Amino acid sequence: APFPIRLSGPVIKGFGRGSKDLGIPTANIPADDLDNHPDLKTGVYYGVVALAPIQHTTENGHGNGNGSAETNSRDTILPAVLSIGYNPFYKNTVRSVEIHVMPPTTQPSPTAASQSQPTFHRLPDFYGTKLNLLILGYIWPEFDYVSMEALIEDIRVDCEVARLSLLREGYLRYLVDDGVSSEK
Ligand code: ADP
Ligand code: MG
Repeated sequence: APFPIRLSGPVIKGFGRGSKDLGIPTANIPADDLDNHPDLKTGVYYGVVALAPIQHTTENGHGNGNGSAETNSRDTILPAVLSIGYNPFYKNTVRSVEIHVMPPTTQPSPTAASQSQPTFHRLPDFYGTKLNLLILGYIWPEFDYVSMEALIEDIRVDCEVARLSLLREGYLRYLVDDGVSSEK
C-alpha cells in the first residue's frame, strides 16, 4: 500500500482487553474508514498519531474542538504501533483498528537494560477525543499465539520495530512538522 495512509475517528470503547488482560492499552477507532482503503491488509503497522488536547473550557464557555472534525496545532504527535484486523489470538469476528501510543521517540527507550520487563506506556484516558493517525509502514501480519505471554512478547517487538523505524531520517518530519493532524 502507498504510505502514508490516513485514518481518523473518535476513540471508542473496545473489547476492554488491552489493558485488563495484556497490560497494553490500545485506543480503538471505528473500522469504517478502512472501506476507503480496500487494499490495506490486516496486520501490524507503525505510524504517528495526533491526539487532541484534553478538553479545556475556555472563558467564553466553548471547548477547544475536541471530537469535532477540526484539530489544531496544539495536538500532541506521538509514535504509534497498531493492528488492523481480527486479533487471531482473540478470534474477533469484526475487524478492529487498535492503536498503542508510545512515548516520544526522542526519549531513550525505557526498554533499556535496567528494566527486564518494562511496562507499556500509559496516558490519561482519552475516550471520545478525535484521533488522527498516519500509517507509515507495515511490520508483519497478525499472528496467532500459543499463549498470552507469547503475544505480549511479540507486541514488545512490534513497539521496538516501530520505534526504530520512526527514528529513520525519512520519518522524523512526521513527528515534528504537524502533517498528521491537518491535511497539507
Ligand atoms: P478498550 O478495549 O476500550 O480499547 P483498552 O484496555 O485497550 O480498552 O484501553 C484503551 C484506552 O486506554 C484508550 O482508549 C485510551 O483512552 C487509554 N490509553 C491510555 N494510554 C494509552 C496508550 N499509550 N495508547 C493507547 N490508549 C491509551
Ligand atoms: Mg483497546
